[in-house]
Amino acid sequence: MICFNVPPFTGKEMQYMKEAVDAQKICGDGQFTKKCNQWIEENTGTLKALLTTSCTHATELAALLMDVKPGDEVIMPSFTFVSTADAFVLRGAVPVFVDIRPDTMNIDEKKIEAAITEKTVGIVPVHYAGVSCEMDTIMDIAKRHNLWVIEDAAQGVMSTYKGKALGAIGDFGCYSFHETKNYSMGEGGAILIQNEKYIEEAEIIREKGTNRSKFFRGQIDKYTWVNFGSSYLPSDMNAAYLWAQLELAEEMNRKRLECWNRYYENLKELEENGYIELPTIPEGCVHNAHMFYLKAKDLEERTEFIDFMKKKDVLTVFHYIPLHSAPAGLKYGRFHGEDVYTTKESERLARLPMYYALSLEEVDYISNAVKEFYASR
Ligand SMILES: *Cc1c(COP(=O)(O)O)cnc(C)c1O
Repeated sequence: MICFNVPPFTGKEMQYMKEAVDAQKICGDGQFTKKCNQWIEENTGTLKALLTTSCTHATELAALLMDVKPGDEVIMPSFTFVSTADAFVLRGAVPVFVDIRPDTMNIDEKKIEAAITEKTVGIVPVHYAGVSCEMDTIMDIAKRHNLWVIEDAAQGVMSTYKGKALGAIGDFGCYSFHETKNYSMGEGGAILIQNEKYIEEAEIIREKGTNRSKFFRGQIDKYTWVNFGSSYLPSDMNAAYLWAQLELAEEMNRKRLECWNRYYENLKELEENGYIELPTIPEGCVHNAHMFYLKAKDLEERTEFIDFMKKKDVLTVFHYIPLHSAPAGLKYGRFHGEDVYTTKESERLARLPMYYALSLEEVDYISNAVKEFYASR
């Protein structure tokens, strides 16, 4: 059986976790958390990076920093994971869903401006599959309408847009280190902050509303409760696990891309013959092989495809149920404009196995199974 996902593991995770334990520092902001924060800063060019307990929490933290209020409107795609919307719904805001582009499955930048009202406060582009949204256009719209941009770069670690790291382009960027992502700590994430003026407040909210970070740096002699806050900092044991991967990020990325490119080579004939569609990587975008998907003709064909692959011992999955058609989406959000692609394209999409430990032989086996399915059509 070829699994759909295997959590990344490079070999040094246990050693580093033991080091955290031996150092008797297993709470947050220990040596490994600092190494991870620094790695993100150096590799993305962001002004400040802070590990968080999840990407969901990083987005919540960004929403708190932007003082999102009840009734505010936030523009985002409907084709995304629930967390993108949750962080703002928790603040009483209304997610305003905009259609996607069929080529990248990312928010259609040309449809954003029409969705802006006097209640709009920000835009949340989601870089699906680690392939960038059209950020120049999005940043320009945000600037002209005085909106903030929080990038949901959960899938975008190690990807770039015109040479800039995803997550380090908008006002804030949110990374995920969940076990299904390219680099993992089980559950975890990070917030990337581009503006100096939000750093101190971010540290305070992340540490239960206290100025403990300043205290640890020796900038003050006692710490106290200075603002509202929560607990968004992960254990240093989890950070130790992540560090074993970040220090090998180049190599891990290279290996994933090798599998991705092999899938593409193997399956492009099926695309040329009109059976399936494969992902598009727009010019200027460098992706991180977060996922490999194909699009079948329609929902019916996809269902048959997933069943066929299961019989071949290959687990393939689909996602997302568009948020605007989910119960909470109907309750809390609204779709602006026409749903031309969101529902239609999401019903055709199937993800093939893609993870660090996947071998080229397995990619070939899976590709042959895909070809076999289409040979009978
Ligand atoms: C995985 C994911 C998230 C949530 O990440 P967590 O770290 O599990 O909170 C949010 N948005 C997108 C697009 C994701 O893929």
